[in-house]
Amino acid sequence: MANHKKRFTVGWLYPDLMNIYGDRGNILTLLKRAEWRDFEARLVELRRGTTRHMDEVDVFFFGGGQDREQALVYEDLIEHKQPPLERAVASGAVVLAVCGGYQLLGHHYTTAEGERFPGIGLIDVTTEAGKRRFIGDVVVDTDIIDLMPDTLVGFENHSGRTFLGAGAVPMGRVRLGFGNNGTDGTEGCLQGGVVGTYLHGSLLPKNPHLADHLIRSALRRRGAGDLSRLDDSVELAAHDWILERALRRQPARARPQRPPRSTPTATAEIPAP
Ligand code: GLN
Repeated sequence: MANHKKRFTVGWLYPDLMNIYGDRGNILTLLKRAEWRDFEARLVELRRGTTRHMDEVDVFFFGGGQDREQALVYEDLIEHKQPPLERAVASGAVVLAVCGGYQLLGHHYTTAEGERFPGIGLIDVTTEAGKRRFIGDVVVDTDIIDLMPDTLVGFENHSGRTFLGAGAVPMGRVRLGFGNNGTDGTEGCLQGGVVGTYLHGSLLPKNPHLADHLIRSALRRRGAGDLSRLDDSVELAAHDWILERALRRQPARARPQRPPRSTPTATAEIPAP
């Protein structure tokens, strides 16, 4: 009997080099949450030199890496991955990029030693490393419309200070932590199907609402955007625990009281490409 299961494909950029602070957990979360909705979930590993199956990918993941690893991948990114990645995003695929991956999707990343790694300019951001590393828990009040909960929690460890150009909007504002640059209060960026962030941890297991947001947005191009609800009580309990622990440990920026959460995980749109 033919297998009529719908396919959902995750493309993992440089799994051998750009994968730190639990980034792999994002891959597992995307695949599992698709499987739990009866998709045939598939992983495509995109190491240096290959672009096979990139046109079949729904969600790309680009993890973090130290300067040394970024130095090993940026040329391959420009030479091999940039054209198919741009095509895929233009046709509605989604990208989640964390820290070092986020930086290389921008225009450039300059290390603390002054070495410049050109990026692919898929997002309108630039990054210059500072002397001091930004390390610790992060709490973000997200600007993504109707994302519920409207907080994201994670962990950051980076020397880069990222600044957004006119083409990108912040993913949110830091209530706790340094975020993009430790000065303007923003965290991450949203631009044409790309979500960039400094949140490691890993990010998606403790933020299932963002995981569904990415899956839903990627499937929209196939008219399959509706996702059945999952019982995320464990994931959201972890989210809340991290949120409360982080805020208990360090006084955060003031924030207006919010009505109690009504729905477990409601997601909204990533801006269409
Ligand atoms: N090497 C980059 C920096 O230090 C990215 C680090 C990371 O991915 N955690 O900012």
